[in-house]
Amino acid sequence: MFSAQDSALLTRRRFLSWSQAALAALGASSILPSKSNALSTTSEAQSADDYYAKLGVEKIINAAGTYTYLTAAVMPPQVQRAVAQAALHPVVLKDLQIASGEYIAKRLRCEAALVSSGASAALTLATAACLANANGIAANLIPESVGSMKNEVIVQKAHRYEYDHAMLLCGVRIVEVTTLDEYRRAFSPKTIMTNFFNSAEGGETDRQTWLEVAHQHNVPCHMDAAADMPPIENLWKYTGMGYDLVCFSGGKGIRGPQNAGLLLGKKHLIDLAMESNNPNSDAVGRGMKVAKEQIVGMVAAVDWLLDQNDEADQAEYKRRADLIIREVKSIPTMKTEIFVPEIANHVPHLMLSYDPQVVGITPKQVQERLRAQRPRIELNPATGSSGRFGSHSNENTIVVGTWMLQPGEAEIVGRQLRAVLSSHNT
Ligand SMILES: *Cc1c(COP(=O)(O)O)cnc(C)c1O
Repeated sequence: MFSAQDSALLTRRRFLSWSQAALAALGASSILPSKSNALSTTSEAQSADDYYAKLGVEKIINAAGTYTYLTAAVMPPQVQRAVAQAALHPVVLKDLQIASGEYIAKRLRCEAALVSSGASAALTLATAACLANANGIAANLIPESVGSMKNEVIVQKAHRYEYDHAMLLCGVRIVEVTTLDEYRRAFSPKTIMTNFFNSAEGGETDRQTWLEVAHQHNVPCHMDAAADMPPIENLWKYTGMGYDLVCFSGGKGIRGPQNAGLLLGKKHLIDLAMESNNPNSDAVGRGMKVAKEQIVGMVAAVDWLLDQNDEADQAEYKRRADLIIREVKSIPTMKTEIFVPEIANHVPHLMLSYDPQVVGITPKQVQERLRAQRPRIELNPATGSSGRFGSHSNENTIVVGTWMLQPGEAEIVGRQLRAVLSSHNT
């Protein structure tokens, strides 16, 4: 019997052999990038198995930034190749975890490192490590009996954030402080660690003082620097200051796999974090597995990143912003600004402010229009709202993040923005 499934399969095979023949006829070289730009992420090996197309999932132009909901960064070709190669062979997972950690620690100038399933998982493993460290227990006792153990984490009120869950899932309690004096008094025999949210906008105690006070009490400090690269040197700056543990997201500015991250820091704590990590089953990190492909991808991304140059990258992001400015500067009332946030996402962002009354369309409406187009363009989520970029954006501002644009896309974004903004003011 010849089923509908068989027929679909046959159609697909025919399509594939057709498309392969068509590619050959076109001469594959004409559709592949002729030379690879440092920031280009187009893989040389374009697969015929385009599952986004098969699944009907729209590919987007990312004019927003390294946002998790937009799948963050695209891996550079060298990282994509390392991932594909790692998929060819099984290894012992623990061996790969240990070797990758040692390699990364050397390259990033810290005592020890581990590849986690993202910065959030790194924070969980850091908490588990500090809990085990303070209580002198095996990491796999977590979280059953935490309530009766040393279990307090000190955090500034202004540093409370959505990633607190990553710590709380170890069963710890967060002790909140506001003034430096409160901080000094918050240390108790139950304190296991402190957490410093590096890009928090508020907080009375700076990162150096925060660290010194904790160390006076022999309490380890974790820093969440997930989105705080570039500059590249931040990857060793905070561990160099003496922070015991520092986490980074692997899939944001570092451009590794989205489900990878780094925990960097002191050897004895990273060793404890490893104990709480998979493949150990009786551990809080069991569900935070990073596959061999992504571990290797993370290592390759670190190698790739250390060959990059902050100044050249920033100049390229600014060039893209300038290109968009040229397209929209003649829109009535338009004011343009290039804004670089100080810590997280420290790259040029384009701010386009105008009077929607005159132009006839609000930034939020522009955002929706670009979303509805093909290719779909995603603007920065700060578009049409205040608060995210301090005084730099409000309801009259379109925000464009240029660093995740692929070659040729800044031109498309500029043209489409101009078309949408000028269609109303006639
Ligand atoms: C993105 C982010 C995280 C989470 O990073 P993942 O790698 O997605 O787990 C944690 N903390 C901060 C401050 C972040 O910006």
